[in-house]
Amino acid sequence: MSQQREEQPEGDLRNTGMSLKHDREWDYELDRIVEEVQEREAKTVGLQFPEGLKRRGPGVADDLRKTLPDDVSVMISGQPCYGACDLDTYMMKRTDVFVHFGHSPMKDSDKIIYVPLFSNVDVFPIMDQAIDEQLSKPEEDPDVGLVTTAQHMNKFEEMCDYLEDEGYTVHTARGDERLTHEGQVLGCNYASADIDADQVLYVGGGKFHPLGLAMEHREKHVVIADPVNNAVTVADAEQFLKERYASVHKAMDAERWGVIFCTKIGQGRWEKAQEIVDNNENAYMLTMDEITPDRLLNFGMDAYVNTGCPRITTDDGPQFHAPMLTPGEYEIAIGEKPLDELEFDTFHGTW
Ligand code: SF4
Repeated sequence: MSQQREEQPEGDLRNTGMSLKHDREWDYELDRIVEEVQEREAKTVGLQFPEGLKRRGPGVADDLRKTLPDDVSVMISGQPCYGACDLDTYMMKRTDVFVHFGHSPMKDSDKIIYVPLFSNVDVFPIMDQAIDEQLSKPEEDPDVGLVTTAQHMNKFEEMCDYLEDEGYTVHTARGDERLTHEGQVLGCNYASADIDADQVLYVGGGKFHPLGLAMEHREKHVVIADPVNNAVTVADAEQFLKERYASVHKAMDAERWGVIFCTKIGQGRWEKAQEIVDNNENAYMLTMDEITPDRLLNFGMDAYVNTGCPRITTDDGPQFHAPMLTPGEYEIAIGEKPLDELEFDTFHGTW
């Protein structure tokens, strides 16, 4: 497995609450889909599921086919899907109704029906434990930031109330236009943690989101309340930083660079890729959708710069045959920036 992103088991692409190992019931909002199909007099319906839920696709298609008229055809996208940045644009253009499951909208469009699939896990016991074990007591520091992933957004207000009732002043932010909700974080965007508090409570599964958060906001104490694995921990960016430094070091001697421009609808950073290629005659622009070790192997470059989803670099990096760097790390590797300016690669805007 390689690419992941926004969503695999609950916040961490490999491990989101979407994983079948957490055998939960999701609300696929079939009534809403059927209503939209009827209203639009649609004849073709496309369904796109995140990786962890693809196995449920045929069942959902069956349920829809039972309800919809016989002349409506339902198809399922076989493309990989790791986030709302990763829409099957081919299917979108060729169906009357396109349903994207498992992610909150990155950009609204009449064409797309987003079905978020909220988690039904109880988040409050683990928040309680986080308060007991890792957050400062309200008497010492009442200010706390709160962030979560799309899967728990339906409980966000209740989470805020819960912390307020415990005596905290809760700080939240909407982030930028890549984020749909107040308090939401993505694997590539932690703008909602730009808040006036030294401690931040992240409620969600997986460790990759809070690690990115801790990297991006190194001055903050990031407490992870993971209701899926029922664990409270503190995000520690040190080990992660060491791994990134090691990749940068390995790439310092590289002569030929592959600069990847990702063609997925919400992952393109053209200017960034172009700028690198314009300024380095030994750099080659490679365009692709899925970025996998197999696909890069035959190019045989000494190192790569990934301008697509940052999680491919940080989470899958070791699987590639040559160092895979973020654009910021590339600047360090070629001596344009000092090593101590290494930052987490974040992604802003939509398309
Ligand atoms: S680009 Fe961002 S939203 Fe898209 S899969 Fe990667 S981390 Fe998730």
